[in-house]
Amino acid sequence: MSFSEKLKTNNKACVIGHPISHSLSPIIHNHWLQKYNIEGEYKAADVAPHELEEFLSNLTENGYRGCNITIPHKENAWKIISQSDKYQNNNSLPAQIAKFMEAVNTVVIDRETGEYLATNTDFIGYARSLIEAEPEFDYRNAIAFVLGAGGAAKAVIFALFSMNVGHIVVCNRTHDKALEIERIMRNSFQLGDDKISVVKWENRNEAVKHCNIFVNTTSLGMNKDGVAQGEVDVDISQMSKPAIVSDIIYNPLKTALLERAEKSGLSAVNGLGMLMHQAAPAFEGWYGKKPEVDEELRKKLLSNFGG
Ligand code: NAP
Repeated sequence: MSFSEKLKTNNKACVIGHPISHSLSPIIHNHWLQKYNIEGEYKAADVAPHELEEFLSNLTENGYRGCNITIPHKENAWKIISQSDKYQNNNSLPAQIAKFMEAVNTVVIDRETGEYLATNTDFIGYARSLIEAEPEFDYRNAIAFVLGAGGAAKAVIFALFSMNVGHIVVCNRTHDKALEIERIMRNSFQLGDDKISVVKWENRNEAVKHCNIFVNTTSLGMNKDGVAQGEVDVDISQMSKPAIVSDIIYNPLKTALLERAEKSGLSAVNGLGMLMHQAAPAFEGWYGKKPEVDEELRKKLLSNFGG
């Protein structure tokens, strides 16, 4: 079959990571393929770092319409794709987001040209999940505290900014990384001191008292082999109410942080919504159908946690 025929008829997609067996993405995309009766296939592929470039360059030849990319490949995938002659470099919002984040979680292959539209849907996933969980919250007048300054923090900060949250405070164990995110946000969107600031790690408990959204974007509290790895050491009990405490971790569904939030009478939002909502634009890009994040999908994912 010729390359152009493949572009038209390929119907596979996948998630690539290393390791990848824990990924919930196959449950999500196969739910939608079934629900909308679409002929397609979505699997997880374990791709080691040294195999990434070759895997990415042969997507069309191997029957793919695109792929998701997860830990540890998001940043390297950006470097590889943005330097490749297949890179679709345009001014569309999805393309600009990957440029801003310098990390890719979704590739959609253009079915006419074979070019790769590389994007990052984590920010839209986070924004949609928060609004879905707390639609009435006064985001415009809120002060958000973002713990962490890794890839996910960038997506969350961009989401909060796009939701017009009043002010964003960034705090990270490695202070320079928080300063770097602040610099990128200020330069990209001409933001001033009134919109974004950074606090030192040792001042986190004092700073969080003045905030009414707290987001954990670190890996603290995430389960590994069924055991939580560390715990978010921030006193959220003094936050100004009403307040939302959001943890983008979804395994476990209720982290120790969220348990404490509930005990303090704060709204607790887990990372499952972000996971489901970041998948929707990818599915739409590959299969042309805007999928619904429905209750049945939530149930399928919850049953995976024994819930
Ligand atoms: P990353 O780029 O590696 O960043 C990790 C962050 O965690 C850094 O800010 C790091 O601080 C901090 N950290 C790690 N160990 C720490 C410790 N012991 N004490 C204090 N801070 C610590 O990872 P990422 O891609 O941003 O992902 C972070 C988390 O988000 C992961 O758990 C991931 O599963 C989750 N996530 C969820 C979704 C979703 O859909 N729900 C999407 C994306 C990511 P330093 O800079 O000081 O090292």
